[in-house]
Amino acid sequence: MNQATQSTGKQRYTITYKWVIAALGVATLSFSSYWLPAPHLDVRFILLAAVMMLVSSRLSIQIPRVNTNVTLSDTFIFLVMLLYGGFAGILVAAVEGLFSGLRISKKPVTVLFNSGMMICSTFVTVAVVRLFFGPVSELKSLGLSSFIAAVATMALAQYFVNTGLSAIGLACKMGQGFWHTWQTHYLWTSITYLVGATVAAVSSNSVGRAGLTILLVGGPVIAVLYFTYNKYLDEIKVTAALAEQSERKRAEQAEKHVEELNCHIAEQRRISDELEQSKNHFRHAAFHDALTDLPNRALLAERLEIEIERVKQHENCQFAVLFLDLDRFKNVNDSLGHSIGNQLLIAIARRLESCIREDDIVARLGGDEFAILLAGIPNLEAATNMAERVQEKLHLPFNLSGHEVFTSASIGIALSALGYEHPENVLRDADTAMYRAKEQGKARYELFDEGMHSRAVYLLQMETDLRRALEREEFCVYYQPIVSLENGALAGFEALVRWQHPERGMISPAEFIGMAEEHGFILPLGQWVLERACRQLVQWQWQSPANRSLFMSVNLSAKQMSQTGLVNQIKAVLQDTNLDPGHLKLEITESAVMENAEMAVTVLKQLKALGVQLSVDDFGTGYSSLSYLHRFPLDTLKIDRSFVSRIGEADENGEIVRTIVTLAENMGMDVVAEGIETLGQLSELRRLNCRYGQGYLFARPLETTAATAWMTNTPHVLADLFSQREDFALPRPAMLQLRAV
Ligand code: C2E
Ligand code: CA
Ligand code: CA
Repeated sequence: MNQATQSTGKQRYTITYKWVIAALGVATLSFSSYWLPAPHLDVRFILLAAVMMLVSSRLSIQIPRVNTNVTLSDTFIFLVMLLYGGFAGILVAAVEGLFSGLRISKKPVTVLFNSGMMICSTFVTVAVVRLFFGPVSELKSLGLSSFIAAVATMALAQYFVNTGLSAIGLACKMGQGFWHTWQTHYLWTSITYLVGATVAAVSSNSVGRAGLTILLVGGPVIAVLYFTYNKYLDEIKVTAALAEQSERKRAEQAEKHVEELNCHIAEQRRISDELEQSKNHFRHAAFHDALTDLPNRALLAERLEIEIERVKQHENCQFAVLFLDLDRFKNVNDSLGHSIGNQLLIAIARRLESCIREDDIVARLGGDEFAILLAGIPNLEAATNMAERVQEKLHLPFNLSGHEVFTSASIGIALSALGYEHPENVLRDADTAMYRAKEQGKARYELFDEGMHSRAVYLLQMETDLRRALEREEFCVYYQPIVSLENGALAGFEALVRWQHPERGMISPAEFIGMAEEHGFILPLGQWVLERACRQLVQWQWQSPANRSLFMSVNLSAKQMSQTGLVNQIKAVLQDTNLDPGHLKLEITESAVMENAEMAVTVLKQLKALGVQLSVDDFGTGYSSLSYLHRFPLDTLKIDRSFVSRIGEADENGEIVRTIVTLAENMGMDVVAEGIETLGQLSELRRLNCRYGQGYLFARPLETTAATAWMTNTPHVLADLFSQREDFALPRPAMLQLRAV
């Protein structure tokens, strides 16, 4: 609407302007006819005018690269002015304006405007030239420099007025500024006027001198030149067209290329997307546990790395790792099968997930080990609370394929406050703490501290040392006498291994037997002790006839029990050392026997077949099934030290010892009480009819020479004492102990 109004407004201005110029043209023409001298028009003039009407404006020469044409009409107007004076020029200009106007439009206003514009500009030109150089027709008589200046002035005056008037019209029509319009459309046309004026100046002289001939000769020359030039332009146009064509082709090719490139890029993108997808998929697979679908150790380590960096930056922020290991998971697997075992792991995974917050993660590290990463916790309490919550959750029974399964977990906690740099170290410490929780009785949690770390380092060192100890001959066997509680006579010895560590000194088996079992060293070590002890007993037996009846007790670990070839090994040792099998007593702990009772029955029977004696160690600490006990070919029950040491403290402990003694009697077994330290314990055990005794009261474990000395010196002292009344007074135990450990 607004635009329409604007354009009608512009149109009105343009038309008004055109009429004004047309009217001005008529007025100027009439004024000129009065003011300027009428020309003397001859044949030449008629001819010139005729040629101009016919051809001038048709023969326009385009100037390449500049948006303008040189037409011959300007040249004719200038020529007529120079030859016939200003008024003639104005007349010719008026006619030329009409003709060229008719060629561009049929509208009278446009045709009249065109003519009016030509009249006005030519009039101003004539006026300006007349003002500075005198009448136009007289210019030829000026000197050369003045003539050139006059012609230049003529050209410029014509140029400025003509283009000026034209530019005003166009600016009105386009609604643009005059200066901008003139600059864009007319600036370059000055060339047209200058060329036109120059040609006219040269021609006017020639015409002056050579008369009509020059026109007759010059006409065709100009025509030839014109057509040659046009031909040349055409060729340029063809070349340009060809160039344009090849350019277009190139552009098309480039476009095609771009298109292909786009296709290629799209394809690459698709491939990379697919690759990303499969990479992600690989990460679901590479970072997750297939059974429970929980994050795995690798993903946990990645998250831990982030948390380690985070706590470095934020002082108040901490993280904790809870390392979980199920207690007795092996039992579930062994008794209910792997399928139920797997179901339990999955169910546990889900329960653990239900305990955590969104930022935490539960990972399965393998087997029955899980870890929880608690991110951004304020304090230690948050971690211990979580450990308690997890234990409560796991405490509830699991219903798996109709089986009600109970489980618990031991949890180790490592806190970021210890300043970790590597994820492995966090897990290592949480793991260490978890081991401590197991040691402390399972189904509990323990916090990692530096002490645990030193202990872990110590254990690792011990393990390394232990591997080499056997070949470096750092082990030795000590012998602890076992005496008859009837008369104090020496009945035999228990062989107890010791480790003479080059730096740490004497190390008790309590410290390294477990480790040796765990890492498999117990097999060669047990074999070595067995052989040593057997050889020693044979030696003692040969030393004195009194020693012939002695027996040697050797401890056998659970690992050795399940070792294939154990029976043959023992047989070989007996043969090698020439020991009568009846004098070797193998001690197996109650728990080792009961853990795998069926297997134990078989192995024990095979051992029994060798003729050796069998003893159950630490009796009373495990959970013996009496029915099994009956099936084992056992000779001796060894009452655990814990029962002996409490004799006299509370009545029921005496009762336990009595029960064991009675049980043994009924099954035709001997009883050995270990850990007798006081006379009170001794007399109570004697009263209960316990047959043999072992303990610091008689002797500590002794190294070979000490044991040999003890055999010759002490038994008669003991015998004397045992023959006394019940309230006898034994010599102080210390006096009896030779080089005790
Ligand atoms: P164990 O088989 O129950 O051995 C008895 C332990 O009680 C020995 O500890 C002994 O020194 C200690 N003992 C004996 N009388 C007393 C007493 O009156 N008071 C106190 N407080 N302790 C007494 P030791 O020698 O430290 O051995 C510890 C355990 O190491 C043994 O317990 C046994 O299970 C294991 N062990 C020792 N040598 C061997 C071995 O060669 N093979 C295997 N498999 N285990 C062994
Ligand atoms: Ca023992
Ligand atoms: Ca024992």
